[in-house]
Amino acid sequence: MLNDNDEEKKDDDKEEEDKPPLMEEITIPSVTELVEVGVQFLPTKGGITSIDFDKESRTFHIPIINLDENSEVVLRNLVAYEACSASGPLVLTRYTELMNGIIDTENDAKLLCERRIIINHLKNEKEVTGLWNGMNSIEERERDEGEKGIWGESREVQRRANEEEWYSDVEEENEDDLDALRGSDEEGERYAVWNDDMEKRGVDLFVGLQFATRKKYKEVLKDWVVRRGWDLKFLKSERDKVTAICKNGCDWRIHASSVMKTSSYQIKSIKGKHICNHRTDNMQADYKYIGKRIQHFIKDNPNEGLESLKNKIRRDVQVECSMHKVYRAKRYALELLRGDVKEQYNRLYDYCATVVKHNPNSSMVLKVDRSLTPPVLERMYCCLSGCKEGLLDGCRPIIGLDGCFLKGLYKGQLLTAVGRDGNDNLVPIAYAMVEVEKFDTWEWFLNLLLRDIGSHEDRGWAFLSD
Ligand SMILES: [Zn+2]
Repeated sequence: MLNDNDEEKKDDDKEEEDKPPLMEEITIPSVTELVEVGVQFLPTKGGITSIDFDKESRTFHIPIINLDENSEVVLRNLVAYEACSASGPLVLTRYTELMNGIIDTENDAKLLCERRIIINHLKNEKEVTGLWNGMNSIEERERDEGEKGIWGESREVQRRANEEEWYSDVEEENEDDLDALRGSDEEGERYAVWNDDMEKRGVDLFVGLQFATRKKYKEVLKDWVVRRGWDLKFLKSERDKVTAICKNGCDWRIHASSVMKTSSYQIKSIKGKHICNHRTDNMQADYKYIGKRIQHFIKDNPNEGLESLKNKIRRDVQVECSMHKVYRAKRYALELLRGDVKEQYNRLYDYCATVVKHNPNSSMVLKVDRSLTPPVLERMYCCLSGCKEGLLDGCRPIIGLDGCFLKGLYKGQLLTAVGRDGNDNLVPIAYAMVEVEKFDTWEWFLNLLLRDIGSHEDRGWAFLSD
């Protein structure tokens, strides 16, 4: 199990290392937005190199392009050709990205057609919008999946060489939702931060919601979709941005990115409507996820068989998984529980010190085998002052002794001493956790007990045991 954890750590590290460097995000406003703030669009007779923005007159110069049903294929091939053979900057690629960036809606396309920058031979503006945005989405997908596709090997290599250029300005249109939410209020914005309470209440994800880390965001997102029976596909999973879509291919998508170079993550947009059927073959529900979900069940039923556990997972998590996955999930859940218990054992010294601090005259004794590295806990004895005084003040001099097995992950046995008060009620006096019930451990326990409650000669104790 430890190996699994290591693996996970390695995976995470690797994931972080593979990410391109954190980059300034560039938001490209749409044509409509630019026109609204007074930017003019003028067609140029020159080629791509004639693209220009004149700050003085606030005029965007863009070359004229004729679009018909062959344009998309031609553009794609040109972009591919450029990626294979260009030694300098990928100007055509940048041009298609620019056009995709400024054309978000039919209205954007309409405005460019009216200004004769786009000469439209397609059926309508919707097709123009689809052409540019469609090109982008397919490129993104290929990039993410590392598919060679029609672009061939060399494009992939070129792509890596131009990684910085490539990654710098995709997805910006998705920032719009948050910008709209943000309004004109720039300073002192406060967004809801995901917390455990929201987790318990099953709060829906919404635009603007923040998460402490990228890892937390992905964890919550996974849980959110699995609980709804959806499956995800990550289009982009970089250090500073994560975009996911519905795996069934409906138009639902969610985009989040890091907040101003901090470790915080924020949902920037949620688009589309998910209308797909429930999926039980959910890839997001990996063995670790399932392990976490069944952790409490395993805690109560550590010996539950795999077959019935599989049924339990189908019923409660609503995910169908292989026996192997059930096995790994169970092992992972046990590991999580052990880690938990281990952590508590690690704090026994603190626990004893705290008990004594708040209950003066109490006895807390830890017996540790220091000949081993690391030292191993053998026994713990506890006699609270209140119990001790209760016995001395108002109980008969009769002490009952018994032992029982501990059923936690670390086993051992519990020894107890109880008294009886004037009303015949049981009064706990002291207890000890020992490795095993034997003469030596009883002797150790009784010596400590007598030290606390006074000797047999002084008090005339009578002991009862089975
Ligand atoms: Zn869907």
